[in-house]
Amino acid sequence: IISKLPQTGTTIFTTMSALANEVGAINLSQGFPDFETSPELIKLANTALKKGHNQYAPMAGVLALREQIAKKTEKLYGTIYNPDTEITITAGGTQAIFTAITAMIHPMDEVIIFEPAYDSYAPAIKLMGGIVKSLELEPPDYRISWNMVKRLINHKTKMIILNSPHNPTATILHKEDIEELSNLVKTQDIWILSDEVYEHLIYDGETHHSMAMYPELQQRSFIVASFGKPFHATGWKVGYCMAPALLMSEFRKVHQFLVFSVNTPIQYAIAEYLKNENHYLDLPAFFQQKRDYFRKGLEQSKFKLLPCSGSYFQSVTYKDITDEKDSDFALRLTREFGVASIPVSGFYSKGTDHHVLRFCFAKRQETLDKAVDRLLKI
Ligand code: GLN
Repeated sequence: IISKLPQTGTTIFTTMSALANEVGAINLSQGFPDFETSPELIKLANTALKKGHNQYAPMAGVLALREQIAKKTEKLYGTIYNPDTEITITAGGTQAIFTAITAMIHPMDEVIIFEPAYDSYAPAIKLMGGIVKSLELEPPDYRISWNMVKRLINHKTKMIILNSPHNPTATILHKEDIEELSNLVKTQDIWILSDEVYEHLIYDGETHHSMAMYPELQQRSFIVASFGKPFHATGWKVGYCMAPALLMSEFRKVHQFLVFSVNTPIQYAIAEYLKNENHYLDLPAFFQQKRDYFRKGLEQSKFKLLPCSGSYFQSVTYKDITDEKDSDFALRLTREFGVASIPVSGFYSKGTDHHVLRFCFAKRQETLDKAVDRLLKI
């Protein structure tokens, strides 16, 4: 076999979750909640099944859901997306990302990504024959140097991939980033792929700066969102992509052959559930309580907490414990102390010696208590 992805192994999420299960560790590695989704949403899913919504959805997704997404987007970000031509329901955020890259990237096109980067971006670009141009960001604040971005841009640059709130670092884009980005791209033919799957998980009263809020950026953006994260249902694998009609028409050419359409009853259920805006407006407070609880617990530990402005991830450094590589330490922490995390070097193509671990705090209080107890013993 001549591998198309010779450097790619099994994802760090699968590896760490499998190890956690094998040794019975508390799994704070892969990002998913250990509590149930809302009974109301489950009831809506049951109703949809019973009502007979069990055949193919339209290729672009159930219209009722696309309409609710358009409403939510207009309300939150002030921009009107046309449900017919500008919104497509996908099998989760990862499929939307893959589809957008597949639709837009030709061989030798360059795509700028920021590392640490979610692990699906680079392989998707490479499969299309594109060239990954990565800019490494540094802890503790992982700020983007827009001057450095500018230096990476040339006539081959076709896309910039952004992710805010950011996985794994929990940072967010600020107004100044948006201004710099707008200045950079306004005179160029560069698409933006904006991974906004943690849009509703943002803390301390901060604003999520969606690309949808800024016409200059919106017109060139594929915005990717997810229902797994906000509605505690990562296993349902339902998300969506929004883009101006011209871009969305290219996206759909690929989408229709990648999955054709997405599971129907769940789309009806989410469409109903979205009618109550509190179902997403309440999320920052809900997750901020967990973030604060977990951070407070770890304050007395030897781990040093990095800032967390969004997402459901808390990163830590551990210089006072060991100088092991994060990948080694994460394994030992799982095996010997019974807490699984994600080594953040896994999000850098060339690795890194930053010594940072990522914990997912989307967990029940008892789980966080147990994990903190164990982490305090180190
Ligand atoms: N987004 C999840 C995380 O970062 C993982 C999804 C996956 O396992 N591919 O943990």
